[in-house]
Amino acid sequence: MGARERGSEVSEYQGPYSLVVIGGGPAGYTAAIRAAQLGMKAALVEAEEELGGICLNWGCIPTKSLLRQAELFRLFQRADEFGISAGEVTFDWKKVVARSRRAAAQLGSGVDYLMKKNGIALFRGRGRLTPVKDVEVHAGGDEVAVLQAPNILIATGAHPQSLPGVQIDGESILSSRHALALAKRPGSMVVVGAGAIGVELAYFFNAFGSEVTVLEAEEQVLPREDGEIAHLLAENLERQGVRVRTGVEVVKVSVRKSGAVSIAVAARASEKGEEISADKLLMAVGVKGNTAGLGLEAVGVRLDKGGIAVDSRMQTTARGIYAAGDVIGAPQLAHAATAEAILAVESMAGREPEQLDRGGIPSCIYCQPQVASVGLTEARAREAGHDVSVGRFPFTASGKAVAAGETEGMVKLVFDRAYGDLLGGAVIGSEATELIAEIALARRLEATYEDLAHTVHAHPTLSEAVKEAAADAFGEAVNA
Ligand code: FAD
Repeated sequence: MGARERGSEVSEYQGPYSLVVIGGGPAGYTAAIRAAQLGMKAALVEAEEELGGICLNWGCIPTKSLLRQAELFRLFQRADEFGISAGEVTFDWKKVVARSRRAAAQLGSGVDYLMKKNGIALFRGRGRLTPVKDVEVHAGGDEVAVLQAPNILIATGAHPQSLPGVQIDGESILSSRHALALAKRPGSMVVVGAGAIGVELAYFFNAFGSEVTVLEAEEQVLPREDGEIAHLLAENLERQGVRVRTGVEVVKVSVRKSGAVSIAVAARASEKGEEISADKLLMAVGVKGNTAGLGLEAVGVRLDKGGIAVDSRMQTTARGIYAAGDVIGAPQLAHAATAEAILAVESMAGREPEQLDRGGIPSCIYCQPQVASVGLTEARAREAGHDVSVGRFPFTASGKAVAAGETEGMVKLVFDRAYGDLLGGAVIGSEATELIAEIALARRLEATYEDLAHTVHAHPTLSEAVKEAAADAFGEAVNA
């Protein structure tokens, strides 16, 4: 076990290693740190200049910065409502983007620090497996190291998908990564795909004045979310000026000489087609695991539809080779990636970690109003055969929401009627992404409606809406 150097660009740390991690995103760097905590010597191979993966550099963090900036811009425009005179509210696009890049850079350097602090050997380059399960590291066309360890974790993340025949060119047809660093705000944009990334970026560009149209093939925006919540979000986005088209198919995309994009759209429910023109087309139709060029086949790592196939301990079909994060498929969220990575490392270390409860992984969407959910939706609970009792509480009835001027939204909780235990919940509105943590914990602890409704929540807080929704499910709501 160790590193055979083949060049000068190796890290100052040397083996032997008990774990080699390929990929330095949330899954990879978390795995390396957890391994160090458990006394394992870990090496981490990262192809990009920055650590932190998509999440820190081109995903979670820069988008949340941009969305906060959009929210503030919108709030400043409402200043008068709060008795404040702010004069003309304008923005400087370059500074808007620059702030989000600074937020990303700050956290990226934090990961560098954590690698050093935990004594993790860092190899800059592209990793690939050899047929004897070594990890070769290549940089600038040279092989810079060959690493050996009894455990390997593949945490190479995912890349954006497009529609068949539609090439992302980074100029007219963009991936989210291009959209996060545009030199100029586009006058108009079509977003294909109304999942989390699609609606977040639609909200962002619309807030800063782009004309935005969202196209979604499914019958609702956020297709995996509760239908009622998704409907409220679509209505709200429309009120803000986003055109939302659901149940539509993109038939043809062409880029004109000017660089503008023309999109032919067919509505599934009618014969009527539509031609939409925009400065930019953003493809937000999902991501697919980075599995190419890793030498997986030769070592017996099997792929399934979503990415690398793993068992409940995150081990692939090849002994000693594990995988975690976006590369194994849905839900392709950073917090799922880190949980999977910890599970993988604890399994390698011979611990018997608790299995991952995939139903307990929250989903959060950070446009305004925010959307967050965990567990079963009402529809899925019914499909699963539960006799459900549903409780709702609108933010219009929340003292805190009224005081804060954030009355758009509601909490919806789904309980099993017979036993009163919480099956799932969803929130739309201000701070939904924070409120979901209580619901996720309640679900994990198998809390009943009484546990939620009888826990004294501080007044006035938005979290009172969770308590009230629980009470509503069993006819005990006081404030609605
Ligand atoms: P990644 O973060 O993709 O990291 C993989 C790393 O592996 C990269 O650094 C890559 O360079 C490296 N790599 C790949 N191949 C090799 C190789 N052969 N050798 C060496 N290194 C390699 N999730 C959330 O939970 N919340 C959000 O708010 C959120 N917002 C998002 C917004 C956008 C616009 C996008 C695109 C994604 C968002 N996500 C969000 C998803 C989140 O970014 C991913 O789930 C998360 O980054 C997955 O972590 P990972 O470690 O599996 O992969």
